Amino acid sequence: MQRQHSERIHNEALKHIVGGVNSPSRAYKAVGGGAPTVMERGQGGYFWDVDGNQYIDYLAAYGPIITGHAHPHITEAIKKAAETGVLYGTPTAHEVTFAKMLKEAMPGLDKVRFVNSGTEAVMTTIRVARAYTGRDKIIKFAGCYHGHSDLVLVAAGSGPATLGTPDSAGVPKSIAKEVITVPFNDIEPFREALDKWGSEIAAVLVEPIVGNFGIVEPKPGFLQEINELTHAAGALVIYDEVITGFRFMYGGAQDLLGIQPDLTAMGKIIGGGLPIGAYGGKAEIMEKVAPLGPAYQAGTMAGNPASILAGIACLEVLKQDGIYEYLDRLGSMLEEGILASAQKYSVPITINRLKGALTVYFTTEKVVNYEQAENTDGEMFARFFKLMLEQGINLAPSKYEAWFVTIAHSKEDIEATLHAVDNAFYALMN
Ligand code: PLP
Repeated sequence: MQRQHSERIHNEALKHIVGGVNSPSRAYKAVGGGAPTVMERGQGGYFWDVDGNQYIDYLAAYGPIITGHAHPHITEAIKKAAETGVLYGTPTAHEVTFAKMLKEAMPGLDKVRFVNSGTEAVMTTIRVARAYTGRDKIIKFAGCYHGHSDLVLVAAGSGPATLGTPDSAGVPKSIAKEVITVPFNDIEPFREALDKWGSEIAAVLVEPIVGNFGIVEPKPGFLQEINELTHAAGALVIYDEVITGFRFMYGGAQDLLGIQPDLTAMGKIIGGGLPIGAYGGKAEIMEKVAPLGPAYQAGTMAGNPASILAGIACLEVLKQDGIYEYLDRLGSMLEEGILASAQKYSVPITINRLKGALTVYFTTEKVVNYEQAENTDGEMFARFFKLMLEQGINLAPSKYEAWFVTIAHSKEDIEATLHAVDNAFYALMN
């Protein structure tokens, strides 16, 4: 595969854009380095790079592109927005339509607010929970990613009852002390943290189905216990549904699992590929937000017509019958095919899959928490990633990310992918 143009553009990018990328996960640092592939065009389930190579894309832009690239219905909506003005700074009727659509899909949302990214959405839910409870501390779970605001870039302390330390330079130690990080899928350390800090906790923040150390489902009863213990401590439960919203069904993971948080943060899919975030929850909590209440949140671009119209169009596509069943069928084909090849060549893998999202871990151990995901073989993943890329399959360049099947993928695409997986596994073991 020729990659000269990708390399040339990346070398040029390195001179002008820090690290040559606008988000660190796009660099190939976690897969042994090299120039990241510079893409030129996306259509349906495919990408073409600047060297003319074609790829089947499972990155889906880290999740939002569930309809495939340049879906005609979404493209039409974006064109309409371009023709009628992309930014007003005034209310629009579209925002109301979209808020109603989200509320219908996710019954836990009495009131919503649109922002510009998942980071903003999560950051603001924390502020609202603090305003509502009058407390400062939060509990979160190891390996869950909640964007890049100070509060969530905090690493675990040395035990469940210890306060956090900054996970990024520039995050004040004083802020890290407001955050306690405990393992996912293990209720005892969580209980211990609440025993110690319960009366100071404003909120417990969790990805109800994890997407950030691979796809990891909560053990039966885990989220229910979190709800009960959190509420008993007088704190709020926040679900970060930035990845899970509209991923597995038309609605949230909360609807799929039949359990409701007090506040929900959303992003990714609900923008149809344009920048968006949203948060919402129970009316009495949301009414703490300005202009009704004392918790401030604002945004020049918030609720802009382009993102809102693209989001409405995306949900209209996803609302059609059979969409999530189709994603499940293709996801299941991928899972079965990958496992069959792994068995054929004795490749040590475990797959976690829910509908059209799956993670292939290079380990034989079942992965239910971050520590286990960390202990999977990153070097083997890096070799696998490059072998797949060489064969025109674009995966996320990290062992912690999911493969996202889109409705634009066909059975033939999955077959072609499985052929590439078979070749890659053979090469890994020989
Ligand atoms: N929350 C989760 C669960 C995410 O996966 C992400 C991004 O990957 C975010 C929040 C942050 O969203 P954004 O990148 O739109 O700021």
